[in-house]
Amino acid sequence: MKNYFIEKGILIDDNQVNLFNQYKDLLKEYNEKFNITAITDDEEIVKKHFVDSAIGAKYVKGKLIDIGSGGGFPAIPIKIINPDIEVTMLEATEKKCMFLNVVIEKLGLTGITVLNGRAEELAKNIKYREAFDTCTARAVARLNTLSEYCLPFVKKGGSFVALKGDAEEEVKESLNAFSILGGKLKDKINYNLFESKRCIVIVDKIKNTPEKYPRGRGKERKSPL
Ligand code: SAM
Repeated sequence: MKNYFIEKGILIDDNQVNLFNQYKDLLKEYNEKFNITAITDDEEIVKKHFVDSAIGAKYVKGKLIDIGSGGGFPAIPIKIINPDIEVTMLEATEKKCMFLNVVIEKLGLTGITVLNGRAEELAKNIKYREAFDTCTARAVARLNTLSEYCLPFVKKGGSFVALKGDAEEEVKESLNAFSILGGKLKDKINYNLFESKRCIVIVDKIKNTPEKYPRGRGKERKSPL
């Protein structure tokens, strides 16, 4: 396991290896009941879920919210890599939230919580709106839709960090959405994750998001900005 992380420049100690191993076992144990991931092979879990998510940790600072965490990606690997980060995972499916709470408990993680709900609804709640330094998301929606889910959670001065595949087209079609929502493209970091092409898109929050966003009622997906 350690070598896959080292290959990508990430050093992990024995305690972190142990946490990742426990997490892998829980993913496999609960996958049938909870339908968490299509990836079930040990090596693939490490490469495609753990290392991919851990690469995102470099771009996260302060208080983090992860949207559509599913089985915990990228939030839980980020927490294992950087235990000082305060993490909130927002997930729409209740049974996945139950799984996330099992992982938190069994791994003994602290400073990490789960919210069961939809981003477009919780972003309207004053407790969460513009309350985070970083918002991450992986494999949730196209970037223009995702921006409307994520940027409302980010404070001015913070950033939205999207973990994507080849994102050239998506970035181009999202520039308008970034600007409407108070964001500005900062960087696109392309990298090879073993055999796949990946890209981390970083959008800085430079202005407050106008109150009417996210629009809700499925508009983020049906008619992206
Ligand atoms: N981020 C994880 C990963 O990379 O493996 C899970 C990806 S899974 C394909 C997408 C997840 O996003 C699902 O668990 C789904 O329930 C959740 N989701 C989709 N739309 C959402 C929304 N609007 N608010 C909250 N969760 C959402």
